[in-house]
Amino acid sequence: MHLLDFSELQLNPLLLEALEAAGYKTPTPIQSQAIPQLLKGRDLLGIAQTGTGKTAAFSLPILHQMSLNPLTVRPWHTRALILAPTRELAIQIFENLKVYGAPLQYRFSCIFGGVNQEKQVSEMKSGVEVLVATPGRFLDLKNQGYIKLDQTEFFVLDEADRMLDMGFIVDIKKIIAALPLKRQNLLFSATMPTDIASLAQTQLVNPVKVEVTPQATTVERIDQKILFVESSKKSALLCDILREELVSHVLVFSRTKRGADRLVSELKRDGVACDAIHGNKTQAAREKTLSRFRSGQVKVLIATDIAARGIDVDGISHVINFDLPDEPESYVHRIGRTARAGKEGTALSFCSATELAQLHAIEKAIRFKIPVDISHQYHTRGAVVGRPQAVSIFGEITEKTQLQKTKVLAEVVSQTTNLHPKAPKGIEIKSPKPVGVKMPTNLGALRPSRRVIRPAAMVPNHPKTPSR
Ligand code: AMP
Repeated sequence: MHLLDFSELQLNPLLLEALEAAGYKTPTPIQSQAIPQLLKGRDLLGIAQTGTGKTAAFSLPILHQMSLNPLTVRPWHTRALILAPTRELAIQIFENLKVYGAPLQYRFSCIFGGVNQEKQVSEMKSGVEVLVATPGRFLDLKNQGYIKLDQTEFFVLDEADRMLDMGFIVDIKKIIAALPLKRQNLLFSATMPTDIASLAQTQLVNPVKVEVTPQATTVERIDQKILFVESSKKSALLCDILREELVSHVLVFSRTKRGADRLVSELKRDGVACDAIHGNKTQAAREKTLSRFRSGQVKVLIATDIAARGIDVDGISHVINFDLPDEPESYVHRIGRTARAGKEGTALSFCSATELAQLHAIEKAIRFKIPVDISHQYHTRGAVVGRPQAVSIFGEITEKTQLQKTKVLAEVVSQTTNLHPKAPKGIEIKSPKPVGVKMPTNLGALRPSRRVIRPAAMVPNHPKTPSR
């Protein structure tokens, strides 16, 4: 069954209002399959990845059922517990919940480690309707007596397979053991390893099984490229790209708010009309910026992940990852901002020596090796071996870039001559120059193959970088 309209789901009108305000028109496949069953109170086993709309698929029926049965939540209690493996995912769910649940005026809280617990404890003091948490900090606060589960009617375990990978399975079992027996259970996982299958079998009561493949079609329509570049040259490379004619409506992702502001100043200095949206801007300022971007007054919008979540703008020609995200899901979310409504789009990702581990994690998650564009003047030679090559964003490959490519190839061959003594004919082999770039500490995951050119080789390909 695929529903065409949210109104067919018989949800609380306040929730429908919130969805309309968020610009959601049609339920995604997981939403149309899961929501009707969840509204009947069934347990659910969802085989789905982030990016399929699963957050709304579980949040909407929970919020709806709560609204049908209003209750006073006691101090330290919560009516719904959502467990997520990482702080980023927990925040993302929390942000979505606030969007969907805003008109119901419920209290939501998000609990994760690595920060002071005071604010989290004070939010729990009056009780909350929905608590989103990562397992470690959740158990910590629960053991201190700051979280009580007697009123918990809904339990969601999100990304269960990742919980397993991250070693949370014992914590999860402890948490489940502390939940009331009468509750609705929802378990989501992208894959079904044995441990998760047996958890599902023992914890879910006659569950409905809903399986959806990620919206690969969108990702497939996106022309993805990776550009190896030193951190200090990223702004210059961005300016070069923005000068290209076909780059019309660009969303640039920056990891930090400060980074976003710095980029705005640098681009403006270069005469590029741009603006930033991030958490430090007021809602009114964000709305204003978005409408200027929508109308084309501003060609380039710089955003942080959280601020970009609500961006629903058609016709974005390019998404540029100025920094690679730490979470592979964020990469999928980010690039999904282009190629909307059946259109094509381009996603360019800048990758410096210290970001190779993130690139590796992204490629593992999307099961695709992103082609590398080597034709820009800031190209560094890191990790190009075994990587498909992209068509240049800077038009045709010129004689100069061809020469550059040949040089890279020669370098690659010379660095692997111990493994392959025969070099292709016609290529002059030189010994690689020793370089003094320090090996980043987070690259252990990238070492399985001897053929990978290590980041020590990530030096500029151009003889002399133009100063800016
Ligand atoms: P999720 O898989 O829940 O992380 O959702 C992926 C993205 O799709 C999020 O940015 C949501 O805001 C968005 N989304 C979820 N459901 C819909 C929908 N029915 N229509 C449009 N966007 C949606």
